[in-house]
Amino acid sequence: MSKFEEIKDFIISCRCVLLRYNPIRSECGLVKIGNPSSASPVFVSGNYFHTVKRLEKALRGLDCYLLVCDSAGINVWCASGVCDFNEHKIADSVNSTGLSEIVSHRRLILPLLSASGVDLGGLEKECGFKGVFGPADFRDIKKYAGNGFKLEPEMRLVRFAFAERYYNAFGMFAVFLVPVIALKLIAGKKHEGKIHFLLLMNFINIFSNFMLYDRLPFKYPANNSLFIGALIQLAIAAYSLFKRPFRLASYIFCSLSAFVINFLVSVDMLGSTPFYKTTIAHWLSSADNKSLFQPLISQDLCAGCGSCALVCPKGLFTEHGGTVRVDYTRECCECLACVKQCAPRAIKNKNGPVFKDDIKSIENINEIMN
Ligand code: SF4
Ligand code: SF4
Repeated sequence: MSKFEEIKDFIISCRCVLLRYNPIRSECGLVKIGNPSSASPVFVSGNYFHTVKRLEKALRGLDCYLLVCDSAGINVWCASGVCDFNEHKIADSVNSTGLSEIVSHRRLILPLLSASGVDLGGLEKECGFKGVFGPADFRDIKKYAGNGFKLEPEMRLVRFAFAERYYNAFGMFAVFLVPVIALKLIAGKKHEGKIHFLLLMNFINIFSNFMLYDRLPFKYPANNSLFIGALIQLAIAAYSLFKRPFRLASYIFCSLSAFVINFLVSVDMLGSTPFYKTTIAHWLSSADNKSLFQPLISQDLCAGCGSCALVCPKGLFTEHGGTVRVDYTRECCECLACVKQCAPRAIKNKNGPVFKDDIKSIENINEIMN
């Protein structure tokens, strides 16, 4: 790859991060990494530009193929839950690239985070390739390959590394920046001080939430976000009281706008996949945004296949002598990968039919839960 192409990819990746609600699609198809032969492994990815480029880098040094499939330009974790990445999309890519003529084996390594959307049986029926789940984090791919393509338990767990937090913080900051810029254009120099204050509030709220989320006193990010909001309100009150003369209108503006920004950030963090999910109504009424879905294994139906333990990115399932148990000390993020991959439909919700239910890739989910 030329220097020019590298710079171009870097700029497009920055644009992906800054405007994450408007993702850029990478071209679908088969990418050769190194000098692959017909026996080389085939890794599968969605077509979110930023991920494809990072994956290509992570795979450098291996001789393999990267099959980029249509995920509507969205990352596979989000796309899998809403039917934008599934066995049909993968089979389409297999067939359109003529993969069965290129490789001699019939094995695809899928991202583990696609487990909430991909039906492995359906994939094999549609294209003749058997899907296996690889690591949850692409940074473990080389370790996985070096381990004879065997998934160690820690490779199944989702991480929320510094780089991801940083990207997400920037992405959200850019979104909140749009109304502030619009205000600046409308108000001009007249309310410059207030507009700068709004910018500062955005910055403090968003970056402290993402970068410090595991160092703040509460377990759930939305509650931490409210905690940060309370500190900001204290700071605004103290500043307004000590600054002479005291201006009530200015205090009300600052306090109210800080509250609104903080509330919006908190609500946005309720749906953050790496954390937990709940409904806004449940969160406001109970101050608890723990996932409403808690897996409960119906032992009568369970076949002991271990698929739930393999695909759970939060490590909730433990296997002991062919029996799978749920470790409730760990927090579920309601991805529903375990439900999707459980063929006998043995996983129910401990809380009954009440859960956020925003995963669309499982047909008759409410019937399964009952
Ligand atoms: S996936 Fe279903 S059948 Fe398999 S071990 Fe888990 S609960 Fe049992
Ligand atoms: S237990 Fe929760 S986090 Fe684990 S796979 Fe099931 S829904 Fe996802």
